[in-house]
Amino acid sequence: MNYQHILDDIYKASILQPKIGKVASYIPELSEINPNKLGISLTTINGENFSIGDSEERFSIQSISKVLSLTLAISLLGEKIWERVGVEPSGTAFNSLVQLEYEKGIPRNPFINAGAIVIADILVSHLKNPKEDFLSFIRVSSGIRTINFDESVAISEKNSGFRNAALANFLKSFGNLQNDVDEVLDFYFHQCAISMSCRELTQAFYFFANEGISQSGKQIINKSQVKRMNALMQTCGFYDESGEFTFRVGLPGKSGVGGGIVALLPKQFIVSTWSPRLNSNGNSELGMYVLEELTTKTGMSIF
Ligand code: GLN
Repeated sequence: MNYQHILDDIYKASILQPKIGKVASYIPELSEINPNKLGISLTTINGENFSIGDSEERFSIQSISKVLSLTLAISLLGEKIWERVGVEPSGTAFNSLVQLEYEKGIPRNPFINAGAIVIADILVSHLKNPKEDFLSFIRVSSGIRTINFDESVAISEKNSGFRNAALANFLKSFGNLQNDVDEVLDFYFHQCAISMSCRELTQAFYFFANEGISQSGKQIINKSQVKRMNALMQTCGFYDESGEFTFRVGLPGKSGVGGGIVALLPKQFIVSTWSPRLNSNGNSELGMYVLEELTTKTGMSIF
């Protein structure tokens, strides 16, 4: 498969697409980003990389971090975490409060904000130096030692994160948040403020395509845990658009309001896109187009 040729063609077609969607503005720091950025990067299971556009420029991975925090929580606690968070698609927006009332404080899944805040609480309980330990987990599993938080994004979100504060307090009222609300939110805002490039994301997500083994040969999680993670990305990775992403692209993946998407085909490749214009569900408009073109042109999807 000549991936570089395919990515070049998709890139050329993408920059001619109508410029639909808006850069996230509810986190002020994210609204500063050039909306016309477009990066695509694909790493095969053999370690070959094919990239085009702004694929080496770091951006705020935002909710993509929820996959990595869940991975760390699963590797620490195993199946116990499912006592505090569910595994069903939510069908509601990523920052929705409504279901929590009906579900008595057990979030529908770990990839909506409520669920990710519960996972953040679990990590704050079990890590000695939560922020540093989480960073070092990502550095080790990706093999990239320079990955870091963007402090200005973390502060910007902290100053405007009223909905997340509401969710954390609501969880606390149900007894599903054990630590101090501000401490958990500080961790959550930092995990969302991790910066990575498209190419780096393909390296960080390599082990999900390789039965839990990273590019440097380290077993990060076991095969059964990888199955669970990929299943959750497939069913819940795009909030109330998870069905649409599965329908159009047919790969497990995860999006973030920074405009990034990462997706993978087990035993074949990991692909990542960055385009900051978002649709009304908070997913990158052009990123979805790129990935739909990729799986349509190559026939490489899990379906
Ligand atoms: N930090 C963002 C928030 O909590 C993440 C949302 C996202 O990327 N969908 O609102």
